[in-house]
Amino acid sequence: MQKIKGIPVRHFDALIIGAGGGGLRAALQLASANLNVAVVSKVFPTRSHTVAAQGGINAALANVLPDDWHWHMFDTVKGSDYLGDQDAIEFMCREAPRAVYELEHFGIPFSRLKNGNIYQRKFGGQSQNFGGDQAARTCAAADRTGHAMLHSLYQKNLQAKTQFFDEYFSVDLLKNEAGGVQGALVYSIETGEPLIINAGATLLATGGVGQLFRTSTNALINTGDGLGMVLRAGIPVQDMEFFQFHPTGIAGKGMLITEGARGEGGYLVNGAGERFMERYAPNAKDLASRDVVSRAIYTEIKEGRGCGPNKDFVYLKLDHLGADIIKSRLPGIRDMCLTFLGIDPIEKPIPVYPTAHYTMGGIPTDINGRVVMPAKTSPEVCVEGLYAAGEAACVSVHGANRLGGNSLLDILVFGRAAADHMISTLKTNNYQHNLDSDSIDKAIFHFQRWHNMTSHAEAISAESIMDLRNELRRVMEEHCGVFRSKQILAEGVDKVQAIIDRMDNACIHDESKVFNTARVEAMELENLAECALATIISALYREESRGAHSRVDFPERDDKNWLKHSLYFKGENQPEYKPVRTKPLTVDSFPPKDRTY
Ligand SMILES: Cc1cc2nc3c(=O)[nH]c(=O)nc-3n(C[C@H](O)[C@H](O)[C@H](O)COP(=O)(O)OP(=O)(O)OC[C@H]3O[C@@H](n4cnc5c(N)ncnc54)[C@H](O)[C@@H]3O)c2cc1C
Repeated sequence: MQKIKGIPVRHFDALIIGAGGGGLRAALQLASANLNVAVVSKVFPTRSHTVAAQGGINAALANVLPDDWHWHMFDTVKGSDYLGDQDAIEFMCREAPRAVYELEHFGIPFSRLKNGNIYQRKFGGQSQNFGGDQAARTCAAADRTGHAMLHSLYQKNLQAKTQFFDEYFSVDLLKNEAGGVQGALVYSIETGEPLIINAGATLLATGGVGQLFRTSTNALINTGDGLGMVLRAGIPVQDMEFFQFHPTGIAGKGMLITEGARGEGGYLVNGAGERFMERYAPNAKDLASRDVVSRAIYTEIKEGRGCGPNKDFVYLKLDHLGADIIKSRLPGIRDMCLTFLGIDPIEKPIPVYPTAHYTMGGIPTDINGRVVMPAKTSPEVCVEGLYAAGEAACVSVHGANRLGGNSLLDILVFGRAAADHMISTLKTNNYQHNLDSDSIDKAIFHFQRWHNMTSHAEAISAESIMDLRNELRRVMEEHCGVFRSKQILAEGVDKVQAIIDRMDNACIHDESKVFNTARVEAMELENLAECALATIISALYREESRGAHSRVDFPERDDKNWLKHSLYFKGENQPEYKPVRTKPLTVDSFPPKDRTY
């Protein structure tokens, strides 16, 4: 086998980093076009976070109530608080029905209506007729939609002969001598051996960074590794100040109770038994957009109207729905409540509190999944050979706030679009350059930093990786949560920076053994810390309230000064900005309006 600098090299047409729904949809497209595809995942593919998605995927199929993709587009633009790029939103909403029918043909066991059509439930922020009555647009496989989707996609990939590198951790992107990206340095978690994967096109589908906050619905693996990799490669991340807090996490634990529970007719009550969402969103009530419902819950609790002895949560009531609906439509939710709370939602309400859920920001891309960089001369330039899709990317269809059911859609539509573009580029441009020697050296140096650190002397005075990670998550929760202000954010920036400085003195040495998983945890912490700094610095500088970013010192949305995307580069203490793409592909644009539900 070929080796470079002593490291074995494997060649592929395309490298996909990440085996969630985004990565697997892209891989399937590439493998079906007879390309040689490698998929690298730090966990077994079907353990990716997509497996946890509960509520469903949006498409204007009109199976339950009248619907139209234009209405879906309007809702998504409004949900994004007008920060979403309208070309990308149009593309996604138009493609949605095809994406769902494709899934159906892959064999996903969707819940069904009596007439055999796919069941669609009501979800937050969805309307008929551009802001009229509630729509029913979210296609669901009970409350296990992501599970059904990921397993089907994995099996289709096995059939298409995609080559999987399971439990390989991607350390850094590799560049070629022409300055483009051409693969990555990865690390076998089982053997500890590095491997260079040299590929004509590379797609980052590494998911979100939900581990930034202490209380989160996200898997432990969601540490923003793809974002760390692009930042180290000199590429910025976009709109990181917009992080979604889901209104209904199980109080004190963080696990998600799907919005589908409210879609089926569940509602929130405060300590006085009042259905308080009627005051905050008179029309949509409990199915207002997530940012609106999360802020309402915080406000109820802050003003002393919470439930329980400490008045520190609110209740989600489902018991009026009846056992049949709960058992058929929300079986996973019922299981979770029985297991973790000892509560049966058929009989009793569920204590809930907002919890960190979704990364709206990410790696900037165009609608073909190509990673873009701001440029002085033209609006944007593409990074040759590099693509991103899924929660790791910011295309941006979610803008300042994502609607429930739009992420499973985003990962499929843009996973496929990126793959289509990769296929056409690889057909016309299938030569490869030499890998850049400096870029390999940098990646090896980064990897060896954690590999060599085994001496006992180093361990004695060192900081523990897990302690630093926990501290980082606590700081982010306290300083960059639902409500923010200049002072709290500025203090947070200093605290995050101090944690990063302490990482220089961190060590993974534990008694006499160093496990490969400990090295992975150390590299994850580095990525998490990069994302933390990007998030809190971008939040500090955005002096307005928009979508999920809520500044008590700047409570209004300010379209005159702030209708623009932030771009954070590693090492900078202030973001740059670029315009929102307000022009859709074929229809008229939706200009910013007051956002009420
Ligand atoms: C509990 C929960 C419920 C949700 N419910 C819904 C819902 O009902 N509807 C909806 O639309 N959205 C929902 N979402 C959001 C949606 O599920 C996610 O945004 C989406 O699944 C992300 O898919 P992805 O392919 O981008 O990444 P993921 O599924 O997160 O996969 C990331 C992949 O990257 C790999 N990876 C990461 N770093 C590395 C590395 N360094 N080296 C190698 N591999 C790496 C991982 O192993 C994994 O395979 C939910 C999210 C959560 C947390």
